[in-house]
Amino acid sequence: MRELNEIIDGTIQVLEDMKRSGVTHVEVSRETFEELGKAPCPVPREGEAPAEPPSATARREARPPATPMSGASADAAAELALIEGRAKVCVKCGELSRCRHSVVFGVGNPRAEIMFVGEAPGHDEDMQGEPFVGRAGELLTKIIAAMGCKREDVYIANVLKCRPPQNRTPLPDEISNCLPYLLSQIELIQPKVIVALGATAVRALLDVQLGITKMRGHWYTFRDIPIMPTFHPAYLLRNPPAKKEVWEDMKAVLEKLGRKPATRS
Ligand code: URA
Repeated sequence: MRELNEIIDGTIQVLEDMKRSGVTHVEVSRETFEELGKAPCPVPREGEAPAEPPSATARREARPPATPMSGASADAAAELALIEGRAKVCVKCGELSRCRHSVVFGVGNPRAEIMFVGEAPGHDEDMQGEPFVGRAGELLTKIIAAMGCKREDVYIANVLKCRPPQNRTPLPDEISNCLPYLLSQIELIQPKVIVALGATAVRALLDVQLGITKMRGHWYTFRDIPIMPTFHPAYLLRNPPAKKEVWEDMKAVLEKLGRKPATRS
């Protein structure tokens, strides 16, 4: 696997060098191109009926129109798009890349003050190509609204960009393969606060061995950026009383930013 990763990284490097030196396209035979597009999934997908993912065009049309960006935002957006392009062809995790419908890179404001980091896409996210759009996502969207923000104001991403089969917990190798994408996102966005949703996000970013119940509500730091660990929205769906603690954590986030929540409670 390490050897394959080195070949992929080397190939990306060569292509980028070619691009920098003025090469605008490479020739690929139709047969090779079609082979690259085939991604048979050997793992049964929880008895799901095979469903057609919405086309990229349909997804783009469903989104609200973009507002004009400042120079810095446009630069960050362009850099993010470049990294997303790499992630979209990533095959470092064989099983995940064979099974995915989409690479779910991230969504939101490229200069967001608040960045939410979850674990990995689930079924809905895999089908729609956007993080946190299923039931847990609806809850996250409500939390964001209660904070006085819209999804477009913040940035939302996951540790893994591909859905693990049966939504299993990400494996350590998968996390280390995928983490560079998240680190680049953080570096480009430079959020003022990161909210780590659940244990996987916390463990990926912080070298702390405590459980999420002990860590939530306390500030930690990742590369000089304050991180607030809190419960994952999927946990809140199973355990609604814990919403109270998450709200306390979100109020601490707003206070750190000198803002007030939209909802009092
Ligand atoms: N759970 C996550 O951690 N991320 C998503 O995008 C959806 C559900």
